[in-house]
Amino acid sequence: MAKQIQAIRGMKDILPQQTPLWQFLEDRVRSVLSRYGYAEIRMPIVEMTELFKRSIGEVTDIVEKEMYTFADRNGDSLTLRPEGTAGCVRAGLENGLIFNQTQRLWYQGPMFRHERPQKGRYRQFHQIGVETFGLAGPDIDLELILITARIWQELGLQGLELQLNTLGTAEERGQYRDQLIAYFKGHMDELDEDSLRRLESNPLRILDSKNPKMAAVVENAPSLMEHLGETSLRHFEVLREGLDAAGVSYVLNPRLVRGLDYYSRTVFEWVTDSLGAQGTICAGGRYDGLVDQLGGKPTAAVGFAMGLERVIAMLESTDLAEQLPGPDVYLVMMGESAAREGVILAEQLRSALPALRLICHCGGGGFKNQLKKADKSRARYALILGEDEVARKEIGLKPLRGEGDQQQIALSQLEARLAEMIVRHG
Ligand code: ATP
Ligand code: MG
Repeated sequence: MAKQIQAIRGMKDILPQQTPLWQFLEDRVRSVLSRYGYAEIRMPIVEMTELFKRSIGEVTDIVEKEMYTFADRNGDSLTLRPEGTAGCVRAGLENGLIFNQTQRLWYQGPMFRHERPQKGRYRQFHQIGVETFGLAGPDIDLELILITARIWQELGLQGLELQLNTLGTAEERGQYRDQLIAYFKGHMDELDEDSLRRLESNPLRILDSKNPKMAAVVENAPSLMEHLGETSLRHFEVLREGLDAAGVSYVLNPRLVRGLDYYSRTVFEWVTDSLGAQGTICAGGRYDGLVDQLGGKPTAAVGFAMGLERVIAMLESTDLAEQLPGPDVYLVMMGESAAREGVILAEQLRSALPALRLICHCGGGGFKNQLKKADKSRARYALILGEDEVARKEIGLKPLRGEGDQQQIALSQLEARLAEMIVRHG
C-alpha cells in the first residue's frame, strides 16, 4: 500500500460527526444576522499581499510572521487571507458599496495564520465576521454588541464576559503614545523581546501582551482614558448607557487595545474562562480610519469577528450535540420486491412531507444487519418493509428510541402517521 499523505499541521478536518454542530451554529448566526438586516458578502480567500500589509500593518504578529504568502505564477505576491476585514473593505470599495452609503455586511469562511497550533489556535480556522460602513454613532456599536449577545443566547452559551474599552481617535492617542513610550522606557528591563521591538513602532500593542511576566508593567502603565476628548468620551458614555438599558453587562478593560492607527473609539471582546488560554471567542471594534487607508473616502466603520472553532469548543462542552435531531425514519427493506417498492414509497413520502428526514437502506443484507444500521443512524423509527408487508399493503413501524413496540400500519395510513410524528417532534 502507498504511504498516506497527512493534512497540514494546524489544519483540521471537520468530520461528519462534528458538522451537525457547525451547521447548527452557522444556521443560528445566519438567522440572527438576517433578522437584523445584515447581508452576506463572499470574498475570495486569496488577496494581494499588499492589501494586508497596508490594512493590518507591517508591525503586527500577523504580517510579521503569520501570513501564508506565495508568488503567483506571474510573480504577484499573494496571501491566503488571515482575516476578513481587509478583503471586505477592498470588495466594498471596488464594487462601489461604501461611498455615501450605509452597509451592514457579514461573511464567513476559513482564515489562515501560521501560528503555533494548540487548543483553540489553528493555522486554518474559521470566522464569521460582520462589518458596517457609513455609521459613525454609538448606536451601531451598540447594535453589534446586542447582535453578539443574542447569538450567545440563541446558541445557549453561558458564562461569557463582555470586555469593553475605548481607544479614542488617532489624534487623541498621539499624545498618549509619547507618554506610554516614556513609561516603558523607564521599565526596559521588564519588557520582553516582542515589546522591546514594538516600543517605538507600536507601543499600544504592548498593552495587549499575553506574556504573564509583563502583567505588572502593563498593569501600571498610564491610562488612555485621560487623553480622550469630549466627543470620544460621549460616544463611549452613550454606548455604555445603551448596554445598561438593554441589560447587557460588561467589564471595562483598559488593556483591551488594537495597536493600529485606523482603530478608533469602541473595542470589545467576548471572553470565556472555560477554554484555557484561548478564551476570546469574538473580537470587535470601530475602525474609522481603514477605508481611507485603503484608498476610499474617509468612512465610519465598525465590525467584529468570531472564531468558530472556539465557539464550537464551548458548544461541545454542553449536551447540545445529543439534542440535535437525527433522522426521523430509516427504511429497512427485505427482499427484491420490497427494495423496489420501498424506494418508490420513500420518494412519495419525501414529496408529501418536505420536512421528513428519511434514510433508505442501501446495499441489501439481512434483517438484523439493517436494523443495526437503522439504530446507528440515530433515527427515531425504523420502517420495515418485507415481502409479506408488500403483499398485505402494510409496513412495520418500530420505535428505536424506546417509545413502545413495533406496530403494523396500512400503507394508506403511513403518510398521516409520519406527518403527526414530525409535528409532534417539531
Ligand atoms: P488571539 O489574541 O487569540 O491571537 P487575535 O487578536 O489574533 O486573537 P482576531 O484577529 O481579533 O484575533 O480574530 C478574531 C477571533 O478569531 C479571535 O477572537 C479568535 O476567536 C479567532 N481566532 C484568531 N486567531 C485564531 C486561530 N489561529 N485559531 C482559531 N481561532 C482564531
Ligand atoms: Mg492572534
